[in-house]
Amino acid sequence: MGPLLLVLLLVLVAAMALLLNSCGQDQGNDGNAGGAPAGGEDNGADSGNAGGTDQQDPPEDETGAQEPEVPADPYDGYEILTMTEEDMAVGEQILVSNEHMYSFPEAAESQLVLLVDNKSSSYTSNVNDTLILPVAVEHLNQMLDDYVAQGGATDIMVVSGYRTYDFQQGLFDRNAARNGIENARRYVAQAGGSEHHTGYAVDLYSTNNGDYFEGVGEYAWVTDHCHEYGFILRYTEEKEPITKIGPESWHFRYVGVPHSYIVVENDFCYEEYIDYLRQFPFDGEHLFYTVGDQEYEIYFVEGLEVPVPEGGEYTVSGNNVDGFIVTITK
Ligand SMILES: [Zn+2]
Repeated sequence: MGPLLLVLLLVLVAAMALLLNSCGQDQGNDGNAGGAPAGGEDNGADSGNAGGTDQQDPPEDETGAQEPEVPADPYDGYEILTMTEEDMAVGEQILVSNEHMYSFPEAAESQLVLLVDNKSSSYTSNVNDTLILPVAVEHLNQMLDDYVAQGGATDIMVVSGYRTYDFQQGLFDRNAARNGIENARRYVAQAGGSEHHTGYAVDLYSTNNGDYFEGVGEYAWVTDHCHEYGFILRYTEEKEPITKIGPESWHFRYVGVPHSYIVVENDFCYEEYIDYLRQFPFDGEHLFYTVGDQEYEIYFVEGLEVPVPEGGEYTVSGNNVDGFIVTITK
């Protein structure tokens, strides 16, 4: 048994030595192939003795030919954000409707502020406890300040901003009791399906007219210019077959620039815009759009792995359907 064990040991040692040796050679080869000297050899072969180095040429040619053929890495200059399902319900470009219910993510709910504490003096609020998202009230202020500055009436009143699930349920139930279920379905979103849950929507009222904002006469300025401030008129008669909500000349939704411009320019309702953006996936052609001197680049990412530029200015918004919209400020 003794000698046999010794032989086995010797064989094992020999095998390990062989293995170690081959590892060392691999590393050495890798270093040569990837480093600068390989390029230098290529140059030498091209300019000089092309015929005399047959045996060395094939590996060099192989290395040299492969480099230009490597396709550009589509993720070069990007990092991947891993988002959650809840993130998909957060952001300025979310679509909320009876078909795409809102999930009241804490990340958005916690940002709500009191309208009366943040609004400008160009308009009023019917109650003191209306909540809204900061970005929406900031742009609402700019819009109505400019409206008043160019001669508009100061009687515009915000009569609805953020709504809770229970508040919307109460609205729907009262409307259904008063006007019938068909009317309620046409004009009142179901609880969870109202844009007012998001904090990005407001309903306007004219105290001079004693009625909801109609966007006619001098008030037409607001309807015509709202997209310059990131707002869209969300429900029109023309798009009722798609939105499933009757025309509401008083309901404005903040979606942000440049999205508001693209919606208006293409005469989209918001449902159509969210679908339109699917034509611009990350790994396809992106959507470029210029407002004034500012250029924007937009793409859509389905799922939760979202490539975003490393550095630079950009926003990521869920679409509240199946993915994310990335907007790069160039
Ligand atoms: Zn509304």
